[in-house]
Amino acid sequence: MNERFRALVLNEVNGGVAADIKDLDETALPEGDVTIAVRYSGLNYKDGMILKGIGRLVRQYPHVPGIDLAGHVVASTSADFAPGDEVLVTGYRMGEAHWGGYAQRARVPADWVVKGPPGLDAYQAMALGTAGFTAMIAVMELEWAGLKPGAGKVLVTGANGGLGSVAVGLLSALGHEVVASTGRMEAFDALKALGAAAVIDRKELASAPERPLLAERWAGAIDAVGGTTLASILAGMRYGGVIAACGLAGGNKLDTTVIPFLLRGVRLLGIDSVMYPRARRLEAWQRLAAEMPKSALDQVASTATLGELPGLAEQILKGRTRGRVVVNVNA
Ligand code: NDP
Repeated sequence: MNERFRALVLNEVNGGVAADIKDLDETALPEGDVTIAVRYSGLNYKDGMILKGIGRLVRQYPHVPGIDLAGHVVASTSADFAPGDEVLVTGYRMGEAHWGGYAQRARVPADWVVKGPPGLDAYQAMALGTAGFTAMIAVMELEWAGLKPGAGKVLVTGANGGLGSVAVGLLSALGHEVVASTGRMEAFDALKALGAAAVIDRKELASAPERPLLAERWAGAIDAVGGTTLASILAGMRYGGVIAACGLAGGNKLDTTVIPFLLRGVRLLGIDSVMYPRARRLEAWQRLAAEMPKSALDQVASTATLGELPGLAEQILKGRTRGRVVVNVNA
């Protein structure tokens, strides 16, 4: 029997987009193998862009956004999933090119779906969401590049944001000496409580470096900001240091020199969460479940409803939300 469900629906209006909460029928869902009763979604920077119609990420309206979801399977034509399975989905352009998680029901291809993982309930999975998953794969890529606890200071930029706050919690739980960079020094105590050894004002990194090489500060870095901040991190890396470039909250241009690569052997790794290979994706979720302290997760998460999302989209694009916003689609 087709169920009716509630969804946040975007439509194009006068060249912009408008959001409404609507009742839809399951027949409206896109094709896919697995139908999911969504319990929670989340708010990411990209969701903010989609909710505000920025960047032409969505090409077809009406559209149900939400790049993350967690819930349980209600129907499946795939042998890999059965009704009742606890699952989560992030990436694969769900919420952009395919309807997403801001709804009580979603339908997606089976190979996008991740089971469980054990140790994370649906709320905790969405307290991590794409931002937390990206922080985890950034950590994994830094480790594969040879970064070990004890190697030196590891910088996290945009530390009060979703990706940044999970990165601070994870890296410090793994024994790294984390330096958190933020524009909100009033959150100093919160970042210390997450495990940061030191907190710096993001202004220190915000202007273009005066020289191709600055004093050697960072053994590693997870950067959510990009732009001149990334240029300045590159110039301040220690010999053999490694950076995971994840985001563009401060700009998508990178004006730099090759000198840090040539004279200090610095490595710059690109991080993409959307098409990240499935085997590594499963490993990342297992590690998040095991290694992200639940107390840190409680600390970074707050809850919102579907109706609050348009307002929150403006806030996240201005860098004003803290940590991760979990969306209760049933509230
Ligand atoms: P958030 O908005 O939660 O975090 C971004 C943080 O960056 C803000 O909280 C703020 O932190 C800082 N910031 C905001 N504006 C500026 C600015 N103008 N200059 C310097 N710092 C700024 O977003 P998310 O955590 O969801 O995403 C962070 C970034 O990572 C985004 O650019 C997003 O697109 C990208 N991303 C990339 C993914 C990938 O696959 N590569 C996946 C997920 C996210 P503070 O107040 O502490 O300074």
